Amino acid sequence: MSLTLTDQAHAGIRSLHAYEPGKPIEDLKRELGLSSIIKLASNENPLGTAPAATRALAEFAGELHRYPDGNGFALKQKLAARHAIEPGRITLGNGSNDVLELTARVFLGPGKNAVFSEYAFAVYPIVARAVNAETRVVPALGASAEMPRGHDLDAFMDHVDDNTGVVFIASPNNPTGTWLAPAAIEAFLDALPAHVVVVLDEAYLEYQDRDQRPDSRAWLERYPNLIVTRTFSKIYGMAGLRVGYGLSSPEVADYINRVRQPFNVSTIGLHCAEAALDDKAFIDRSIGTNTVQRAALAAELQARGLSCLPSQANFITFDCGEASTPLFQAMLREGVIVRPLASYDMPEHLRVTVGAAEDNARFLAALDVVRDRG
Ligand code: PMP
Repeated sequence: MSLTLTDQAHAGIRSLHAYEPGKPIEDLKRELGLSSIIKLASNENPLGTAPAATRALAEFAGELHRYPDGNGFALKQKLAARHAIEPGRITLGNGSNDVLELTARVFLGPGKNAVFSEYAFAVYPIVARAVNAETRVVPALGASAEMPRGHDLDAFMDHVDDNTGVVFIASPNNPTGTWLAPAAIEAFLDALPAHVVVVLDEAYLEYQDRDQRPDSRAWLERYPNLIVTRTFSKIYGMAGLRVGYGLSSPEVADYINRVRQPFNVSTIGLHCAEAALDDKAFIDRSIGTNTVQRAALAAELQARGLSCLPSQANFITFDCGEASTPLFQAMLREGVIVRPLASYDMPEHLRVTVGAAEDNARFLAALDVVRDRG
C-alpha cells in the first residue's frame, strides 16, 4: 500500500495551516485603484529603519560571495557589552522566530508538551506542533480582569507536568498588548520545576514604560532554564532584515547552537544590527513617538465607545462590537490595512499598529467612514 504525502506528515504538521501572507502593497494599490495604502497590520516601526543601519547598508564594503560569520562574533560582542553578559549566553537567530523554533527543536518533541496562553503569539503552536509536541493552551484572564485576556500565570502551573518541555510567555504579549508584572514573572520562575524551559518573549520590551520593564538579565543568573528572546524587527525597524537573539545559560545556548544552521543570519543582517545598536537617538524617538501616539490612539478609540485592551506594546487591540473581518476588508478598500483577529479566536477584535500621527489620523478617518456606512 502506498502512503499519500498527507499520511506521511505527522499529526502535528497535519494540524497546522500554512501562513497566509497579505498581498504586496503595490498589487493591492493596483487592484483597489488607490494611490496610497498604509499598513498598520504587522507591528512594524512607523519611523522606518534605524538610520545607522541604513547608512551601514549603503556603505557596506564586505564580501557577499563569502558565507556570513556563522558565529556572529562582532554582533555578539556588542550585544554582550550591551547586556553585560558573556557572548556564550547569546544565540543569534533569523529573527527571534528562529530562536523560538530552535528552542522547540531542542526541548520539545513527541511525548513532550508546550504550555502557552490563550491569545498568545501564533508561532508558539507552530513550532511545537512542527516537532509533534502536544500543545496546552492555558485559559487567559477574564474580560473583567485588570489585564483582560492577559496571561494567567497561576493557571499555567496547572498545565505543567513532568512532560512539559517549554513554557512560552510573552510580555508584552502579541496580539493582546497585555504585560506581566516583573514580580509575577519572578514568582512563576521560582515555582516552576527546574526541568521546564521558559521562553520569556520580549519582542516588544522597549515599548514598555521603563518602570514596568523587568530586569530579565538578572534572572538569567538565577534560572538556568530561562531563555529571553529579543528582536531587531520592532524598535530598530529591521523586520525585513531578520535578526533576533536569545539570552540564556551557556548550557542552553550550547544546545541550541547544536541544531542551529551555521549561517542562519545573513552578512547584511549582522552588519546592520551591529550599527543599529548604537542608534540611541532613533530608539529614543521611536519609543517617544509610540508612547505619545499609543495614548492618543487609545483615547480616540475609547471616545468612539470602542474598548481597548491595555497595551504596553506598539499596537492596540480593540473590540469592534461587530465581526472584525468584514470591517478589516472595508478598511482595506479605504487604503488602511489592519489585522482582524479571528484566527486568534477573537473574531470581534482588531489589532492596529501604532503609527506616526498622520498614520493614526488616516486610520481613524477610515474607521469612521466604514462604521458610519454600517
Ligand atoms: N514574538 C512576538 C510576540 C512577536 O509578535 C513577534 C513578531 N510578530 C516575534 C516574536 C517575532 O519577531 P521576529 O521573528 O521578527 O524577531
